[in-house]
Amino acid sequence: MKALLLRDIRLPDGTGCDVLVEDGRFAAFGRNLTAPSGAANEDGAGGLLLPGLIEGHTHLDKSLWDMPWYRNECGPLLGDRIANERRQRGLLGLDPARQARAVADRFLALGTTRIRSFADVDTEIGLKHVHALLELREAQAGVQEIQVVAFPQSGLLVRPGTLELLTAAMADGADIVGGLDPSGIDRDPKGHLDAVFALSGKTGKPLDIHLHEPGELGAFALELTVERTLALGMQKRVVISHAFCLGDVAPARQSGLLALLAEAGIALATTAPPSRNVPPVAACRAAGVTIFGGNDGIRDTWTPYGAPDMLQRAMLIGLKNDFRRDDQIDVALDCVTGAAALGCGFSGHGLAVGMLAEAVLVDAQSVAEAVVAQPSRRLVISGGRVVARDNALV
Ligand SMILES: [Zn+2]
Repeated sequence: MKALLLRDIRLPDGTGCDVLVEDGRFAAFGRNLTAPSGAANEDGAGGLLLPGLIEGHTHLDKSLWDMPWYRNECGPLLGDRIANERRQRGLLGLDPARQARAVADRFLALGTTRIRSFADVDTEIGLKHVHALLELREAQAGVQEIQVVAFPQSGLLVRPGTLELLTAAMADGADIVGGLDPSGIDRDPKGHLDAVFALSGKTGKPLDIHLHEPGELGAFALELTVERTLALGMQKRVVISHAFCLGDVAPARQSGLLALLAEAGIALATTAPPSRNVPPVAACRAAGVTIFGGNDGIRDTWTPYGAPDMLQRAMLIGLKNDFRRDDQIDVALDCVTGAAALGCGFSGHGLAVGMLAEAVLVDAQSVAEAVVAQPSRRLVISGGRVVARDNALV
C-alpha cells in the first residue's frame, strides 16, 4: 500500500505537525517529516485533523435517505411507530440493502469511519435486513467498519419465532445481540433479558439493549441488566441505548444507578433527543460510565430528522447537555470518537502512532468550532488513503 504524507495540519490539542501514514496506519506525527519515495502527498494547509468519526447507534436498514420525501402521519406512541414502520416498509418498497449503502456512503464522505447499526429481525422480514447489512459490512471493509446488531424491533417474546430468527442471525454472522424494552414491548422483563443474555452467552457476542422505558420502569430493567451482566461476567460487553430513565429519576436515584452501571462496565448510547430526558453526559463520565453518541434513525418512518453527519450529532449532544465551554464541547466530540470506540469495542482508533489511519480534515480553529460550525470535510482518510474530498467520495 502506498504511503501518504499529510503536511501542515493541526491536531485537536493545537499542535502543528505533519502526519505520515504507512501500511494503513499512522506511522509518525512530527514537524518536517520526509515522505518515503513514491508516497502520496497532501497539503493540509493548516487545517484541523480530527480522528475518524463514529456512529454508535443507527438503523441503516430502514432510512429513507435519498428516497422521495415520506409524509409522516404516524401516531404518537412507541407502538404506533413500530406498527407504522412495518406497514410502510412494504408500501414504500424499502430496499434495506440500497438504503444502508446510501447512508453508509454519505457517512463516509462526511468522515464517519465506524458504524454500529441495528438490523431489524421479525417474523415478516425474517433475516432480510440482517443479510443486507452483513453484505454491506463486507463491501465497506477496509474503509468503514460496520458492526451489525440483530434487533427484534417488533418484540422478541410477544412475536413467537423471533428468538429463533435472532439466533439464526447470530449464526449468519451478526456481531451483536439486540434487545428492546423488556417490559414495555415484551411485557416480560425477566423472560426478555434472560433470553437475550442466554443468546449472548451461547454465541459469545456482546449485547446492546434499546431501553426507552421511562422512570422507575426503566430503572428496574436497568437493574436487572446490571445483575445479569455481573453474574455472567459480561463487563465491557453490554451497552444500554437511550436509557431515558436515567434522566427521569431524582438525582440520588440517578447516582445510585450510575454507580451500578460503572460497576458492571455497562456503556450507554445516547442520541440526546430534545423531546426526552436523557442520561447527562457529564454525570455519566464523572461516575465512570462510558457514554457515546448516535443518531438513531436517520430520516425514516420514525423521524424525519437526523443526518449521516456525526459532527452534527456532537453538536446536538452539546446543546442537550448545555455544553458551552470549549472543554465541554471537546467532550461532545469525544462522544462520537474516543468514547464511542471504547463503548462499541472498535479497536485501533485514534490519532496516535500505530492506530488505523482514519481522520477527517476540516477548516476550523478548534474542536469546538468544528462541532458548532460543522465545516466541510476537506479530506477524509480511511484505510490509509484519501477516500473523500470536500464532502464527496473519491
Ligand atoms: Zn435505535
